[in-house]
Amino acid sequence: MLIGVIVGLLFQLMKTNTSKQLRLSFLETKTGLPNLNQLRYEINSLTNGKKDFSIMAFYITNLLDINAYIDYSIGEKSILKAIEKLESTFGKQNVFVVSMDTYIVLFQGASLEHTDAIAEQAVAMLTEPILINNFTIRLEVRCGILNSPLYGNSTDALLDELKITLDKSKKYSQKIMVFSEKMVEQKKQKLEVITALHDAIQNDEFYMVYQPIIHIPSGEIRGAEGLLRWNHTNIHMGPGEFISIAEKAGFINEITKWVIRHSVQQIRAWQDAGMPAKIAVNVSSKDLSNDSVIAYAQECVETSRIDPQSLGFELTERVITQNETKIKTLLRQMQAIGIGISIDDFGTGYNSMIQLVTLPITYVKIDKFFIDHIEHEKYRIVITEIIRLAHNLKMEIIAEGVETEQQLRLLKEMGCDNIQGYYFSKPLPEKEYAEFVASYQENFMSRITE
Ligand code: C2E
Ligand code: MG
Ligand code: MG
Repeated sequence: MLIGVIVGLLFQLMKTNTSKQLRLSFLETKTGLPNLNQLRYEINSLTNGKKDFSIMAFYITNLLDINAYIDYSIGEKSILKAIEKLESTFGKQNVFVVSMDTYIVLFQGASLEHTDAIAEQAVAMLTEPILINNFTIRLEVRCGILNSPLYGNSTDALLDELKITLDKSKKYSQKIMVFSEKMVEQKKQKLEVITALHDAIQNDEFYMVYQPIIHIPSGEIRGAEGLLRWNHTNIHMGPGEFISIAEKAGFINEITKWVIRHSVQQIRAWQDAGMPAKIAVNVSSKDLSNDSVIAYAQECVETSRIDPQSLGFELTERVITQNETKIKTLLRQMQAIGIGISIDDFGTGYNSMIQLVTLPITYVKIDKFFIDHIEHEKYRIVITEIIRLAHNLKMEIIAEGVETEQQLRLLKEMGCDNIQGYYFSKPLPEKEYAEFVASYQENFMSRITE
């Protein structure tokens, strides 16, 4: 009998636990709200029942800031207030939680075509200031809407579309964004580009072009900037665009390593051919989040037995402002190896002056923007000051994007050290670059010496 009672109790316990687990798998523990599983279930039922409905997603953009700058408990309380407001507007059973900062609302009813206006009101309500423990909190909210009739043909497709819409509203800082079919097409195209870009190394679609950098006082070629090109049958994209995609998709390191390997091999080949052999390559911020790219550069330099000073890295100010302490250490590491560092697009970022005094920099590249406006006196004053500053700090200047004789003349008068730009040459593939170098003295040098 005793055994029977124990087994009975155990069975009862198991049953309550299972139903608790089952319930929990449909509820988010912190907020007690129905979660994504429940949302999927509800969407399935509505679609199966051929019901008309819209879906809205609300994302709280400043929750992390509230948590970081004020306090977790204030963050939590403001979220609970927001949930209360959503529940009282849309009904408790229609509000679902995705994560602490993202909530989804299912919306059925006669006024489906007015969803935008309803979302507008909801956003206004959520962003009203709230007083918590003497702090006035104002939540910032983005909203994505899938309007009825819905376009996706499965629950997952609908949730995907909602995410695309919400991501767009975040990206463009637009309070409310309504889904359109175009967004799915754009996302598809983006994924195709990412996949193609990811395979570009393997498919041998990358190549380098080189743009000469000319030393003004001697009139000689100082070296070149190495710039990456992608040769794909259908996708035609410049490096400004595809580099940023590779950064976001998380494989920029492999591309940078490819660029470094090719540039080092190119330096070796030019050195052997008795050509000026110096190449500066561009690195992005993600390349400096750890030291693997620098270690790789060192390895390439050693294997190819080139002078480390013939390799340079160009970093934009933006690269440096992110994770400054770590980057400072890495730059010193590069300096120790002998790799020169240029600040690219100088004058367009935030911390220019600080970087000039705190980092081991060899070249300052004045951005093309300043050169484009060099005929105006104000710009000339700024350029002259940058040149003077760099010289006092024992750095050299490279003017970027020099296209005309007049720009060159003015820069020469101002004491600029080097120029780079279409006035001498566009970035050229290896063979054309070698031809440019071979014919330089005869055809181009007089442009600078006379
Ligand atoms: P950047 O490093 O500032 O490179 C200079 C850009 O200005 C190059 O564009 C070059 O072709 C262009 N340029 C040079 N002289 C002139 C001129 O006289 N007139 C005009 N209109 N343009 C001129 P490109 O090759 O399209 O590269 C754009 C940007 O893409 C580069 O700007 C760099 O930030 C990035 N990039 C290129 N290759 C790489 C790479 O291998 N790795 C990384 N991380 N970024 C790269
Ligand atoms: Mg550059
Ligand atoms: Mg530049």
